Amino acid sequence: MTAARARSKSPGKQARAPAPERDGETLQSRLAKLGIRSKRDLALHLPLRYEDETKITPLSQVKGGEPALVEAEVVDSEVKYRPRRTLVVKLVDDEGRNLWIRFLNFYPSQVKQLAPGKRVRLFGEVRAGFFGDEMVHPKYRMVEKGAPLSKSLTPVYPTTAGLSQLQLRGLIERALDMLVLDDTLDAKLLAKLGLPGFRESVMLLHRPPPDVDAASLDMRTHPAWRRLKFDELLAQQLAMRIAYRERRAKVAPPLPDAHTLTNALVKSLPFPLTRAQRNAQQVIAKDLAQPHPMRRLLQGDVGSGKTLVAALAAVQCIENGWQAALMAPTEILAEQHYLKLRHWLEPLGVKVAWLAGSLKPREKKIAMEAISRGETQLAIGTHALFQEGVEFARLGLAVVDEQHRFGVEQRLALVAKGGGEPHQLMMSATPIPRTLSMSYFADLDVTVIDEMPPGRSPVITKLVSEERRDEVIARVRESCRDGSQAYWVCPLIEESETLQLKTAIETFETIKQTFPDLSVGLVHGRLKTAEKAQVMEAFKARVIQLLVATTVIEVGVDVPNATLMVIEHAERMGLAQLHQLRGRVGRGSQQSLAILLYYQPLSEAARARLKIIYENNDGFEIARQDLLLRGPGEFLGARQSGAPLLRFADIEADTDLVEAARNVADELIAAKSHAVADHLERWLGSRQFYLKA
Ligand code: ADP
Ligand code: MG
Repeated sequence: MTAARARSKSPGKQARAPAPERDGETLQSRLAKLGIRSKRDLALHLPLRYEDETKITPLSQVKGGEPALVEAEVVDSEVKYRPRRTLVVKLVDDEGRNLWIRFLNFYPSQVKQLAPGKRVRLFGEVRAGFFGDEMVHPKYRMVEKGAPLSKSLTPVYPTTAGLSQLQLRGLIERALDMLVLDDTLDAKLLAKLGLPGFRESVMLLHRPPPDVDAASLDMRTHPAWRRLKFDELLAQQLAMRIAYRERRAKVAPPLPDAHTLTNALVKSLPFPLTRAQRNAQQVIAKDLAQPHPMRRLLQGDVGSGKTLVAALAAVQCIENGWQAALMAPTEILAEQHYLKLRHWLEPLGVKVAWLAGSLKPREKKIAMEAISRGETQLAIGTHALFQEGVEFARLGLAVVDEQHRFGVEQRLALVAKGGGEPHQLMMSATPIPRTLSMSYFADLDVTVIDEMPPGRSPVITKLVSEERRDEVIARVRESCRDGSQAYWVCPLIEESETLQLKTAIETFETIKQTFPDLSVGLVHGRLKTAEKAQVMEAFKARVIQLLVATTVIEVGVDVPNATLMVIEHAERMGLAQLHQLRGRVGRGSQQSLAILLYYQPLSEAARARLKIIYENNDGFEIARQDLLLRGPGEFLGARQSGAPLLRFADIEADTDLVEAARNVADELIAAKSHAVADHLERWLGSRQFYLKA
């Protein structure tokens, strides 16, 4: 990259006079906005679509709604002032059919140019207007009769303000003429994959011949498109698989399963592990026994029992004389973990400690000292666990719950702790669709818990318009009178924490007045840890019947007797959030119900989300549809912030290519092929494509 980059950075050839130099610099910065820093980047800047200027369509054959190239002679032109200043030109084509074109913005020179008798080639959509066929603001140019037509479809590129199509097209044309564009992959491999050559593909996409299958170009299923997508995916896979291998070359303490503490924990439980939990545990047990750091992502739907799998990993680590840490994104969740794990592990003699930001300085100091002396065997907390001043004596395993909710920096801080590289187990209840994990998560190992503990009944979901609030209130009352408990989730106010708090308190007051016969509690993010714990304890002990809550209860909260949840302003929430919230009920054997209250009018996106959540109970399916709805950029959120996403390949539509790229990447790396470096250089240059986790 460096040479090409240096070259393209130097000012243009005629950069003598001040003006062009300034221009040259703006051109560069504009290109940079499009991610173009070299000639090679220009060649890989592929068209969005094409315009067919290879043939002239007579007006009589133009189809409505389809852009076409037409040619006609000016009959008459006139500047009209009603209702607005408009240039109206009447033309006639060779078959004698008339066409009117209108311009609202025009230069005086255009009026002169479009004089009677002149011939014009116009590109655009012909529509039925007041007088007849009409084009508004068409692209046009003056021609002589019989002027040659373009020999290939005209590419239309993604561009940016201040950079015209024509200019960009010219730059790309020149780059294509100068570049060699040799293949990074050998002919045998390409034949096996059924893909065309690189040069041939790039050329075809920039200059498609008139007889090309236009539909397959549009749909991006043409072999040339497939080749470029494959190359892009291969670059991604190579980068991530190399990161994967680099990690495997690092050293971590081997922590084999001695089966004493793990067996004791399993025996002490009132239930057997599910098949999926057992599988996950075994895979993780093997990872931990390796002398290389584990980076495993444990995915499982809400309620699938990931905590227990984490506990088993922790005791395996502890049994080997190393410390384990469990980090959760919120205090409320961290505390739940603390209570649960202490309940499970203290009878086995494991020393569990709690560390959160809200601890009093003295308590914090005590906790930190126990951790640094190595006395604490399992430390549980929020990201406070990995902040300045906390030193683990021998950290062997770090478990990150709900990993997608942590920022990249917080996770990196975790890796940096403890001198060496601890093993890492990440858990997520936002299931990552398979194609996504195969592409963007290819540097991790992934295990899926695809089974729920027995005895759960799926949550029934109802969508209820706010106008029918009374029915909902009646339902809540009835349910609580029957001895069940319920959540009332406050509207989400994303813009401001202060407003969120205000809304929570207001909702609480309203609900208290609405249900004078019930005991109502409130929990929100601003409560102190002890206060939160108090409320949650009261809810667990059934002292509180109806719990008004903000989305702080979204993750991990576990009260089996709560069987009803009302979510206000459900239309404001994201799919993952709704699914997680809904997962707080349906935790016992009782039939549970989630009522999503929505306010009219619904935006189209909100309507789509509510439909998906209504129709699906399976978190993986919801995530898949969420991905379709929003695209990987938003779906990935924090993980990929700053890292470029795939430009051409579509991991849903191109699953076969994702798989092929994965296999080829592993083969090329194993064979130490020089294609690896060539390919990465071409596609990634200096760009940082992935984040080293
Ligand atoms: P999540 O995967 O959402 O973190 P949890 O680990 O919180 O799920 O588990 C949800 C509930 O299921 C907890 O109450 C847990 O004790 C219980 N649980 C876990 N494993 C089993 C099992 N094999 N059989 C029955 N209940 C289980
Ligand atoms: Mg959990």
